[in-house]
Amino acid sequence: INMIKIENLWKIYSNGNIKVEALKGVDLKIEEGEFVSIMGPSGSGKSTMMNILGCLDKPTKGKYELDNAKIEELNELELAKIRNKKIGFVFQSFNLLPRTSAYKNVELPMLYANVNFKERHDRALEALKKVGLGDRIHHKPNELSGGQKQRVAIARALVNSPAVILADEPTGNLDSKSSDEIMDIFKKLNEEGATIVIVTHEPDIAQKTKRIVVFKDGEIVEDTKALSSKP
Ligand code: ADP
Ligand code: ADP
Repeated sequence: INMIKIENLWKIYSNGNIKVEALKGVDLKIEEGEFVSIMGPSGSGKSTMMNILGCLDKPTKGKYELDNAKIEELNELELAKIRNKKIGFVFQSFNLLPRTSAYKNVELPMLYANVNFKERHDRALEALKKVGLGDRIHHKPNELSGGQKQRVAIARALVNSPAVILADEPTGNLDSKSSDEIMDIFKKLNEEGATIVIVTHEPDIAQKTKRIVVFKDGEIVEDTKALSSKP
C-alpha cells in the first residue's frame, strides 16, 4: 500500500521577478512500512520536499496523496488536522518546549487532538518508555543530553500514531554515539511498522535506513536500496 504518492510535483518560488524551480516534476512513492533517507547537496530541494511532505507548504503543481488523502484538495484547517494526526515531526534542533517536562512535551500533540486525560497519560508514558526514557519523564529539556532530547522529540512524534514520521537531520546536532542510538530507535519503530523518512547529509546514517533517495537540482537522480536492507 502506498503511504505517500507524489506525481509530477513542482515547487517554484517567486520573489518579484526572480523564479526558483526548487522541485521539477518529482515522482515518488513510499509504501507503508518503508524507512527512507533523502540525501543531496545543499539547494537540491530536500527541505522543500520535506515541507511539502509535512503539509507545511503547498506544491505549485502536481499531486500528493498521503494515506489516501488528496493533499492538494484540502483547505488550511484540514491540513492542520492532517499535520497533527498523520505526521510526526522530528527536527535537527529538537524543538521542545524548554521549561516543560518531557512528559508535558510528549502530551502536547494529544491535547491538540482532543485526547482525554487518561489516554494522554497512558500514551505519553508508553511512548517515553519506548524511547528508553521511562525514568526521565519529569526532566526538563535542559536536564537532558542531546540524545535524550531527541528521544523526547521522537516520543512526541509517535503519540498520535502518525501515518509517517518525518525527520529533518535528526542526528545533525548529536555525537556519533547518540546518533547511533537515535538510528537504533528509528530502526526498532520501523520494524514495528512505522513509515519513516529522514533527511541526512551523512552517508553512514543513510545506510542505516533501507532506501536512499538522492536529490539534485530539484530532481531525483538516484533511488537505491541501502546496505542495511541487503542480506
Ligand atoms: P536543500 O534543502 O536541499 O538545501 P531547499 O529545498 O532548501 O534545498 O532549496 C531548493 C532551492 O530553492 C534552492 O535554490 C533555494 O535557494 C530555493 N529556495 C528554498 N526556499 C526558498 C524560498 N522560500 N524562496 C525562494 N527560494 C527558495
Ligand atoms: P537547510 O539547511 O534545511 O537546507 P536552507 O538553508 O536551504 O535549509 O533554508 C532555510 C530556510 O530558508 C528554509 O525555510 C527555506 O525555505 C528558506 N530559504 C532557502 N533559500 C531561500 C531563498 N533563496 N530565498 C528565501 N528563502 C530561502
